[in-house]
Amino acid sequence: MSAARFTDRTALVTGAGSGIGRATALLLASEGARVAVVDVRGDAAEETASALRESGSPAIAITCDVASSEAVVQTVARVELELGAIDVLANVAGIGDTAGLGGIETLDDDSWQRVFDVNLSGPFYLCKAILPGMAERGRGAVVNVSSLAGRSKSANGGPAYSSSKAGLLGLTRHLAYDYGPRGIRVNAIGPGGVDTPMIRAAAATSARPTAEADARRERLQAYSYFMPIKRLSEPEEQAAAIAFLASDDASYINGVALDVNGGLYMA
Ligand code: NAD
Repeated sequence: MSAARFTDRTALVTGAGSGIGRATALLLASEGARVAVVDVRGDAAEETASALRESGSPAIAITCDVASSEAVVQTVARVELELGAIDVLANVAGIGDTAGLGGIETLDDDSWQRVFDVNLSGPFYLCKAILPGMAERGRGAVVNVSSLAGRSKSANGGPAYSSSKAGLLGLTRHLAYDYGPRGIRVNAIGPGGVDTPMIRAAAATSARPTAEADARRERLQAYSYFMPIKRLSEPEEQAAAIAFLASDDASYINGVALDVNGGLYMA
């Protein structure tokens, strides 16, 4: 791995207040990037940005709900003003969902829509706001965080989650095709189980004293047991894959979905 792959580059990382997004912001900054730390939770974004600044990296925190097109446009304008043109976009923000675990008849329309608004429309709004500028400059890299659920089905969530993450893979391929000729690569990663607040929240939900909750807790334990690499992933291991795809080390990789799941397909 080459050092300082992001010197003089500006990166915008969504969901950077926690988990995979936070680890990605830290890694990109450690390799020279100026990082815009974007999260719907302003305090979490500020905490990550403070950590970056304390280690000597230029960073700003922006509170933004990626499900709002207007908020995304304002966020991108502010990043370009304060940190310069964006070279790397990491769409990490996402929400899990437990609605619909009991079947599609238990999935209400609002829950379905919110998962799509955050997990799929969010990356669409970010790409729409950033890709034209990257195309003008003739360079840029986007990494979308999908999920194992986008290829298979969610282990802990419902059909909205799986569908939104599958949709994100379609967006990735289409934009990779459209923007490849203009010097931009668009790729995705598909994490398996990652030890972050998202998966811990799934376990907490399963702490409810119901038969379904017991089954879900056992499934989560079995999930790590049957994996060829017998543990959940650390957020830093996902961040490493994001940074690789965002870097010039991946200069001929475009439109792929890189599975970062410890070999879960063989489980
Ligand atoms: P996390 O909950 O630790 O972090 C997600 C961050 O996104 C949080 O800081 C949250 O505030 C932010 N966020 C949520 N909604 C937002 C919105 N509307 N606008 C802006 N920010 C928002 O979760 P994580 O595990 O780090 O998940 C990151 C990504 O990885 C998600 O897209 C998730 O679907 C995906 N993923 C996670 C796992 C896993 O096992 N944890 C597995 C596969 C995929």
